[in-house]
Amino acid sequence: MSNQIPVHNVTPPAYTEGDSVDLYASRQKIYTRAFTGVFRNVRLIGGIVLFLLYFGTVWLDWGGHQAVWWNLPERKFYIFGATFWPQDFILLSGILIVSAFGLFFITVFAGRVWCGYTCPQSVWTWIFMWCEKVTEGDRNQRIKLDHAPMSVGKFARKFTKHGLWLLIGLTTGLTFVGYFSPIRDLTVEFFTGQADGWSYFWIGFFTLATYGNAGWLREQVCIHMCPYARFQSVMFDKDTLIVSYDPRRGETRGPRRKDTDYTAQGLGDCIDCTLCVQVCPTGIDIRDGLQIECIGCAACIDACDTVMDKMSYPRGLISYTTEHNLSGQTTHKLRPRLIAYAAVLLVMIGVLTTAFWTRSLIGLDVSKDRMLYRENAEGRIENVYSLKVMNKDQVDHTYVLEATGLPDLKLQGRREIKVPAGEIFTLPVELSVAPERMPSSSNEISFLLRDAENSSTQVQAKSRFIGPHVRSE
Ligand code: SF4
Ligand code: SF4
Repeated sequence: MSNQIPVHNVTPPAYTEGDSVDLYASRQKIYTRAFTGVFRNVRLIGGIVLFLLYFGTVWLDWGGHQAVWWNLPERKFYIFGATFWPQDFILLSGILIVSAFGLFFITVFAGRVWCGYTCPQSVWTWIFMWCEKVTEGDRNQRIKLDHAPMSVGKFARKFTKHGLWLLIGLTTGLTFVGYFSPIRDLTVEFFTGQADGWSYFWIGFFTLATYGNAGWLREQVCIHMCPYARFQSVMFDKDTLIVSYDPRRGETRGPRRKDTDYTAQGLGDCIDCTLCVQVCPTGIDIRDGLQIECIGCAACIDACDTVMDKMSYPRGLISYTTEHNLSGQTTHKLRPRLIAYAAVLLVMIGVLTTAFWTRSLIGLDVSKDRMLYRENAEGRIENVYSLKVMNKDQVDHTYVLEATGLPDLKLQGRREIKVPAGEIFTLPVELSVAPERMPSSSNEISFLLRDAENSSTQVQAKSRFIGPHVRSE
């Protein structure tokens, strides 16, 4: 590998007592150049799909309410036809675990494709860079504009760019908060000044976070703030797809005229045009080898392929390849680590799907009244309970209630309960037993709640029936 990643001597000049050594390197602003190509088109299509999903889903309705709605005050989470309750949070943990293993699998197989194509930080940054190009021009025009003194024209361009950035940030923030507070009402209230303070705070927060991250911080987020960037490099193996320059083909780099016999001059295919550096959103030179800053976006591949086409050289001087390929060895597509991640991923998806389809759509919570027991007019021992019946479905249901566990156990009051879709119904219940039929002073009993129309949908909750001390004969 030493022939692929050149090592530069960065030892600081000799240090003498009393000298101060400045280890801080200020950020160099990156001016990316516009480009076209296959991978740019893939990213564009992927970005449009993700944008439509993010900005569009929030406006869809399902079953009389917003299709995807995290209703925090009522602790109900709607995802199209399914309603999730806090008790279902184990499923959310399952989704996070499946997503993590999906990411591990993709990373081992295809490197940083998540970062380059689908990470919101990248997608929004590409959109912001497009706004920059529309308002301030391409790379060279922007460099010139930044070095020019302030003028009406410069101010107008900068003003329009920041206005567009803020507008996208505001739309992003409003949409995000709209997943927690119905978007139609929120939008009207926001623009008429009637939204509550927290809505303004969170929309403002996400507007500024989007504006700051995609407009100003950009590659700094990927290089210094993203934890995934830190640990994914340990997941790479020599068969992981990486974006790489082929030094065996490219070196010795240097300018030349088209259609000259450059091999006779001792040159390789790289014409040293630096286009691959100019399009890189993290500002690195991929010809220096694999670097932690590389987000695998393939912009340099597109740029270099364009150059290769112009020079009538074969494409692929920079390409998606593997370390094994680069060193002339065979790439192993199926390997133990990849198979292990795929197996765990499939098992987790299976478990999650089963848990989702078999989750109960009825919930029953029982709490016993503080009063231990009382004796009624007929001389029977009575216990009082408070039942919370949850209809987790999106349609109304009628349930039938039974109590079991003691001979002669009588349930007084309502046995049939109609609960509207997604509602919780609180029901006081009294149970009574003749004192001579109680085997002990504390007995386990069960409440059984079943759907009146579908007896296979039922739930059971245990409690205790308390009575006076029972004398043994
Ligand atoms: S774009 Fe290709 S030819 Fe130009 S400097 Fe980069 S690697 Fe060399
Ligand atoms: S080196 Fe190439 S793939 Fe890596 S971030 Fe830069 S342009 Fe994207």
